[in-house]
Amino acid sequence: MDITKVSALQLSKAIRSKELTVKEAVLAQLNEIRKREPLYHCYISILEEQAIKRADEVQKKIEQGEYSNSLLAGVPVAIKDNICTKGIKTTCASHMLSEFCPLYDAEVITRLEAAGCIILGKTNLDEFAMGSTTETSYFGVTKNPNHINYVPGGSSGGSAAAVAGGEAIIALGSDTGGSIRQPSSFCGVVGLKPTYGMVSRYGLIAYASSLDQIGPIGRTVEDCTAILQIIAGKDEKDSTCAVNTVSPSLKAIRQSIQGKRIGLPVEYFEEGLSKEVRIAILKVIEVLKECGANIEEIKLNTSIYGVPAYYILACAEASSNLSRYDGVKYGFRASKYEDLSELYKETRSLGFGTEVKRRLLIGSFVLSSGYYDAYYNKALKAKNILREEFHLAFEKVDLILTPVAPTTAPKLGESLFDPLKMYLGDSYTVPVNLTGLPAISVPCAKDKNNLPIGFQLIGKPFAEQEILQTAYQYERTVQKGEK
Ligand code: GLN
Repeated sequence: MDITKVSALQLSKAIRSKELTVKEAVLAQLNEIRKREPLYHCYISILEEQAIKRADEVQKKIEQGEYSNSLLAGVPVAIKDNICTKGIKTTCASHMLSEFCPLYDAEVITRLEAAGCIILGKTNLDEFAMGSTTETSYFGVTKNPNHINYVPGGSSGGSAAAVAGGEAIIALGSDTGGSIRQPSSFCGVVGLKPTYGMVSRYGLIAYASSLDQIGPIGRTVEDCTAILQIIAGKDEKDSTCAVNTVSPSLKAIRQSIQGKRIGLPVEYFEEGLSKEVRIAILKVIEVLKECGANIEEIKLNTSIYGVPAYYILACAEASSNLSRYDGVKYGFRASKYEDLSELYKETRSLGFGTEVKRRLLIGSFVLSSGYYDAYYNKALKAKNILREEFHLAFEKVDLILTPVAPTTAPKLGESLFDPLKMYLGDSYTVPVNLTGLPAISVPCAKDKNNLPIGFQLIGKPFAEQEILQTAYQYERTVQKGEK
C-alpha cells in the first residue's frame, strides 16, 4: 500500500481488516515526511514520538473491538497550526506564539481522537492565517509539491501541500476568506469550507471570528465527507455552533445529481480570470451536464463588493482578536522596556510580522470613531446585500459553480510586495465567508506549468450534502474517463 497515494478511507479499512497495523501506517507516513520535508516544508512540528505511541494505543483498541464504526480509525491526520493541541506547540506560524503550548485541545482534535485518528503534526500557514501564499510564516515558506518554485497558496498552504505532496493523507485547515479552498486548488487536492456554524471553532485561534471556519483537505471527496462527519455538529463550548446539523453520509453523496440546477454567475467569468482557468471550468460544465445537471447563467452583481467588505471586516475583527497579544497574558514578551506602554509597543513591534501589522493598522483605522460609519458599517451593509443576493440566487438554482482563484499558483516571492493585487486574488472565495455559505474546491485540470486548477461549488446554508454529492459525481465521472 503506497501511503502517498492511498485515500484515508482505504487506509482505515486496511487497518481495521488487519492488512496492516496503525503503527506501520504511521511509520510509513513519517518515513515519507522525512524524505519530502526538506523539499516542501509543510510542517512546523512533526509529532513523531506522540504519533507512534498513540498508534499503539489505537491498535489495542481496534483489537478490542472499539472503533468498529469509525471509518477513519487509525488514520494519521495533519493539523493546521492555528488549531489548539493540548501540550503541543500551537504557533499560528508567528513569532508571537512561537513557544505557546495550549492547555486544552480544540473540539475538532477531541473528536478526531475519539474517532481513533492520530494527530501527526502541525502544518505551516501564513502568520495568524493572514495571507494567500504561506510566505508570511515566521517558520519559512512552504513550497508547492507540483512545482517547487511556486507557492502552495494560503493560508492553509502547509495542510494542502502535505496532502498533495505525500506528507499527509488528510488534513484540517481553516478558511476565513478562502484559506482551505484556494491552497487546495493551487495544490490539486479537495478542500471543503463548511457552513459557518457547522464545525466548532472552540480552540481555533481567532483571526476574524464571524468568518473563520475549520474544514477538511483531502485527496478525495469521500475522505472529506468522512472527516466532516467526525468534526461537525453541535458543541456547547462554541455558542455560534449550529444545533441541528446533519453531516452527509457516504451513501448520501453517492446519489445521482440528475436534474440538479447549477448556476454560473457571469460576474465570476469576467475580466481578471485567466484563460486557462476559464477553459478548465468550461470543461467542468460539460462533465456536470454529462452527470445530469442543468447549467444556467445567473447574476451576482454585488460580488464586486466582496473583497473590499471582506478586508474591512476581517481586519477589524483581527485588530480586536489580536489585541490579546500584549506581552502580559501569554506569548512572546519583549526583553527591553521602561514602562507598561513600552512593553506593549515593543512586544507587538517585535512579535508581529509585516502583513499582520498592516492588517491590525487597517482594522484599528476602520473601527476608529471618525471612520466607523464610513468603513466598518458600510462593509456590514455590503455583507448583508451580498447575503440577500445569494439568497435570491438560491431560489433559482441548487448550487453555484465558479473558479476558486483567477489564476494558478504564483511564483514564490512574487506576491507580497503588491498586497492589493494579492487581496484581489480572493475575489471568488471571500463572498462565501461573508455569507456563511458552504463551498468546496475540487481539482479539475493543470496549466502549462503543471500547476493544478480547481473549481468551486457553493451551496445553500448546510447543503454540504448537495455540494459533496455533486463534487463526488464529478470526480467519479472524470476518473472513469481516465481509465
Ligand atoms: N487570503 C485571505 C486573507 O489573507 C484568506 C485568509 C484565510 O482564509 N485565513 O485574509
